Amino acid sequence: MPSRRTLAIANSQHTVRYYPGRVLAYAVMKQLLLLTFVAFASEAMAQDAQCVPERAAMVEIIRAYARLEADALGPQGISERVLEAVGKTERHRFIPGHPSCSVAYMEAPVLIGKGKTISQPFVVALMTHLAAVKFDDTVLEVGTGSGYQAAVLARLVRKVCTVEIIPPLAEAAAKVLRELGYDNVTGKVGDGYEGWPECGPFDAMIVTAALGHVPPPLIEQLKMGGRLVMPLGAADAPQQLTVIEKITPTETRTRSVIPVRFVPFTRSQD
Ligand code: SAH
Repeated sequence: MPSRRTLAIANSQHTVRYYPGRVLAYAVMKQLLLLTFVAFASEAMAQDAQCVPERAAMVEIIRAYARLEADALGPQGISERVLEAVGKTERHRFIPGHPSCSVAYMEAPVLIGKGKTISQPFVVALMTHLAAVKFDDTVLEVGTGSGYQAAVLARLVRKVCTVEIIPPLAEAAAKVLRELGYDNVTGKVGDGYEGWPECGPFDAMIVTAALGHVPPPLIEQLKMGGRLVMPLGAADAPQQLTVIEKITPTETRTRSVIPVRFVPFTRSQD
């Protein structure tokens, strides 16, 4: 069976033969437009196909890390639904400077500008898993950074609201999320300590910067039974990745998972 492209060319030969003059020019232009469209479509497909082996390898490494952390995570490790989402999310597109596929998908944090980093893939997958999100959920992320964690979440839930305190990072993230078609993510510039009441209430929250305590406004905006996942502890020492579950309007249950190291939660842009 001929490809769409071969068919387009075959049709053009047939059409051109019978229409001279202005009609011929019109037919040629139409054909050129069609060929341009086909060229763009194949370029987009090639981009989608970029880094596919590296992403698959990354998922296997995440599985291996999860097995090492079986005491904290249980024998099931990270849910297949989350692994599928990280396996499809274009991490390389969120990293400034067009890194190679091997750099973008290595099991390490990556610099994203302004001294900030995207966490290593295992930690992104683990936080997403611990947030235990469902298809119909509304989720808050504090610390948009590159937009990568928001993109992973966007594949799993109905709506993601993400707050970033550094305007150029928020703008760059919004741009790439828009380009990649993540239209269920809404972002804003601000201090995520205050949450985002107008976007909530939230079924789950992920905070991607380290703080010594849980911001009370976040607990207020969390639904009953909702989970907040964040690195708790001082900025200059390892923190504990912690799950805080809202069990009654005034009570939470807290579980420490593993030690982690995150960039500091700040209350101003610097
Ligand atoms: N989730 C990001 C990781 C970003 S690193 C990603 O996937 O790329 C943590 C981010 O938290 C930084 O961009 C930092 O500027 C931001 N941050 C720190 N304190 C904040 C606050 N009070 N409100 C909102 N964002 C904050």
